[in-house]
Amino acid sequence: MRKRVIAGNWKMNMTGTEAKKFLKKIVEKINTDKKEIVLCVPSIDIPIVNNIIKNTKIKLGAENFYFENRGAYTGEISAEMLIDQKVSYVIIGHSERRQIFKETSKMINKKIIKAVEENLIPIICCGETLKQREKKETLSHIKKQIEDAYKGVDEKYVKKTIIAYEPIWAIGTGKTATADEAEDVCSYIRKLIKNLYDEKISQEIRILYGGSVNKNNAKEIFSKENIDGGLIGGASIKEDFIDIVKA
Ligand code: PEP
Repeated sequence: MRKRVIAGNWKMNMTGTEAKKFLKKIVEKINTDKKEIVLCVPSIDIPIVNNIIKNTKIKLGAENFYFENRGAYTGEISAEMLIDQKVSYVIIGHSERRQIFKETSKMINKKIIKAVEENLIPIICCGETLKQREKKETLSHIKKQIEDAYKGVDEKYVKKTIIAYEPIWAIGTGKTATADEAEDVCSYIRKLIKNLYDEKISQEIRILYGGSVNKNNAKEIFSKENIDGGLIGGASIKEDFIDIVKA
């Protein structure tokens, strides 16, 4: 039985002051270990959020990091720095990082390898553009992204990794993939993992859906066989997140 994961991606939202106020309202209500609840927050908020959730079952995640250990990389943060602040998850390859900050599949692959070697759980994002979907290139694009992401990743680490299928046209747009569309791609991703590794690993790995999940559509999406939870953007900075956790 795969444990469900509900991960919030705060993106570049929430000052430390706002985070304290928000968490006061939601922490008790999302504090469960029946599902893995993860808050991925801006790096400057990490110590503040850690301080608030440290005695709960809620896990702490980062939105990004750099794969080098330390050195002249102005503006970047390392895996060691995250771990020192009790971070255990990190989002890698989000479409906003790929598109706005020009992260390449090579960089994403290096980040994944570094994360697993440091015992950070990567939440690896993949997803197609609207144009690719219309041209029926969704599956070939996902195949390339997954194969690139897992290049050189030792099989002993794979079951701990998490994949988030996030169609770009559904992120922050209010348009969601239907539960069946999401399930089709998530089951395809599971098959890709089976081909890259083996059946056992493909049945253990958690695959999430992300893209305009809200309190009204979460239950149906999460009911699908190959969808093990969600990566939640906009709704994770609202009290709606409580309903999504309960969905
Ligand atoms: C995201 O950015 O990971 C995301 C899923 O955003 P939203 O829920 O706002 O579409």
